Amino acid sequence: MSTALKVEGLAASYGKIQVFWNISFHVDEGEFVTIIGANGAGKTTVLKTISGLIPLRGGSVQAFGKSLKGFSAAKIVRAGLGHVPEGRQLFGLMTVLENIESGADYLPEARKEAAKTKDFVYKLFPRLAEREPQLAGTLSGGELQMLAIGRALMSKPRLLLVDEPSLGLAPALTKTVFGALQQINKEGVTVVLVEQNVQQSLKLADRAFVLENGEIIKEASGAKLLHDPDVQAAYLSI
Ligand code: ATP
Repeated sequence: MSTALKVEGLAASYGKIQVFWNISFHVDEGEFVTIIGANGAGKTTVLKTISGLIPLRGGSVQAFGKSLKGFSAAKIVRAGLGHVPEGRQLFGLMTVLENIESGADYLPEARKEAAKTKDFVYKLFPRLAEREPQLAGTLSGGELQMLAIGRALMSKPRLLLVDEPSLGLAPALTKTVFGALQQINKEGVTVVLVEQNVQQSLKLADRAFVLENGEIIKEASGAKLLHDPDVQAAYLSI
């Protein structure tokens, strides 16, 4: 199996505040991987460092066998990495359709396929098709999350980084969003999910990592971590 993502000795900081020094892991092509950990453990920062939204302070990132060293965030998208950020970060004064279409901006290959990809997004989330002319700022939390995922899919990613999609969502909508991520993965997109909904995300994951205080302290299959007494005590209130 080939490697979709290889992270070695990753270091990141905000000014003088070092978040982590030495994070290493890999994700195989086609895998669904979840990173769990407490608030402030550094999960969002790992994703942002991989997708070039904050600078790499040390270590290296390879995607599909190619080093991302020196790549801008835009070039990282062109290398096949999509990012669904925490808080969704959509354009509230643009319509659902405009937000979706913006996901393929500046990507000639993705634009050629835009109509087909949009059909896939609407099949995944029929609610977005119904809301197409509506301003994004008027959508519900669940619809916004669907839109954020849909926009990322428009860049035709081979690897999707998804940050806390269940944040603020009712259980039924969380189920819809997680089901969609599973479907996207079945279509061949590798998924790296960061989540605080530990129970549901471990159920989905082929493999999962536990991040604590800037270090990966455990790695196992999702099913195994779901039954790990330390994980249960720390994250599952069992
Ligand atoms: P959460 O689940 O609460 O989002 P997380 O595991 O994703 O947490 P990060 O958001 O990556 O954690 O934050 C890791 C550390 O970096 C925290 O101590 C946080 O306070 C700090 N941090 C995050 N963003 C910034 C920033 N823009 N400036 C300064 N420090 C930051």
